[in-house]
Amino acid sequence: MNIPSLHHYFLQSNGISTDTRKIFKGCLFFALKGENFNGNLFAQEALDKGALKVVVDEAAFHKSNGETILVENVLLALQQLASFHKNYLGLPIISLTGSNGKTTSKELINAVLSQKYNTVATEGNLNNHIGVPLTLLKMNKQTEIGIVEMGANHLGEIKLLSEIAQPEYGYITNFGKAHLEGFGSLEGVVQGKTELYQYLKKHNKKVFVNANDPKQMANSEDIDRITFGTEDSDFNIELLDSSHHLLVSFSGTKIQSNLVGAYNFANLSAAIAIGAYFKVSVEKIKAGIEAYVPANNRSQLITQGSNSILMDAYNANPTSMLAALENFKQTKGENKILFLGDMFELGKDAEKEHQNIVDFLLENPFGKVYLVGSNFFKTSNIASHIKAFETFEDLKKELVTENHKHATILIKGSRGMALERILDVIQVYW
Ligand code: ATP
Ligand code: MG
Repeated sequence: MNIPSLHHYFLQSNGISTDTRKIFKGCLFFALKGENFNGNLFAQEALDKGALKVVVDEAAFHKSNGETILVENVLLALQQLASFHKNYLGLPIISLTGSNGKTTSKELINAVLSQKYNTVATEGNLNNHIGVPLTLLKMNKQTEIGIVEMGANHLGEIKLLSEIAQPEYGYITNFGKAHLEGFGSLEGVVQGKTELYQYLKKHNKKVFVNANDPKQMANSEDIDRITFGTEDSDFNIELLDSSHHLLVSFSGTKIQSNLVGAYNFANLSAAIAIGAYFKVSVEKIKAGIEAYVPANNRSQLITQGSNSILMDAYNANPTSMLAALENFKQTKGENKILFLGDMFELGKDAEKEHQNIVDFLLENPFGKVYLVGSNFFKTSNIASHIKAFETFEDLKKELVTENHKHATILIKGSRGMALERILDVIQVYW
């Protein structure tokens, strides 16, 4: 079936579903294939549960009664349908990628733009070759601006996602050492992320650029750009205080965020600049930023008894880990305690990058450091203030014997380490 006809059915449906566990009445079900599953096998179940029609790519599951739609490749059909739908709506899309801070920036941009516009933004972290099409297919005639997060762990991914979403505007948060396993090196990361710049340049679209980031400035020179963050840029935003929740100033107005970590200044600035560019008033920009409270263990400040905890256990990579440590160095507090968990997906660089963090800790002594995970466990970390544990269980055994009060605590590690579990332990024992 061709894409315009598929779009016709999409408009009749109540939306897309790709998971029979979350099916809803009147949906258009896409029978995707994964490594361990074949959606075609669930075609009948989807219909039984109320799907309007099911898109399949194996003739054996195609029904002659019109309940199924046979295409060559279900994933490709989903992606092409999403592009077709975006063009059908003709609305502006802002796409963002980068190594760190995509979701935070996306949430902040949405918090600001939704003060004035009807927006649709990526839900959670649905930023891949399936999440991006699903985000586009959430937009409708009422949507005025779409905000699409694009994630990548190998070359070519951002190019593909850009071609699907066809953004009018782009923003790259930064280039950092994330997903080194797939990109090979930092140069690989830069090449991968700048696929968005290449798309924007080729199609004469615009880009938002953080003027405080020389690498972004250098890589976006030949694109129609809107700059922010410095005095001589299009939108000047000032950081007034980063010792607690970040306080910034824009156009003579102070804006008090609920985010900790100096690195969030870039994320806040992007949202303010993009809001100002789209003519959201300063009052509304302020209201949007001030109402946004981070969730999911990202840059949160938590008080537990007499201890205050910088909870950043959502994820970690060498760049965001060092940014967090630099920030923690500046954070006020007498009795500082760090919990750092392994950083994943570093491939052959794992050993070097973990040692690099430990070397920083040796040069910059904090009160107490707890390292956890098999990579940190293997580092040379001999110092009286550093303790390394191979597993979370080992760390827990140690923690239940200790008791710290009036401490300022940083918790950071890769998602798989789930270091938010530390909160439960210290809540009971400290
Ligand atoms: P993912 O790759 O999981 O989609 P992301 O790019 O969406 O990640 P966020 O979820 O916004 O990133 O933030 C994850 C963590 O990255 C934060 O908790 C914080 O520690 C760190 N971080 C956020 N913004 C920046 C930044 N601009 N520079 C460096 N580190 C940052
Ligand atoms: Mg994200």
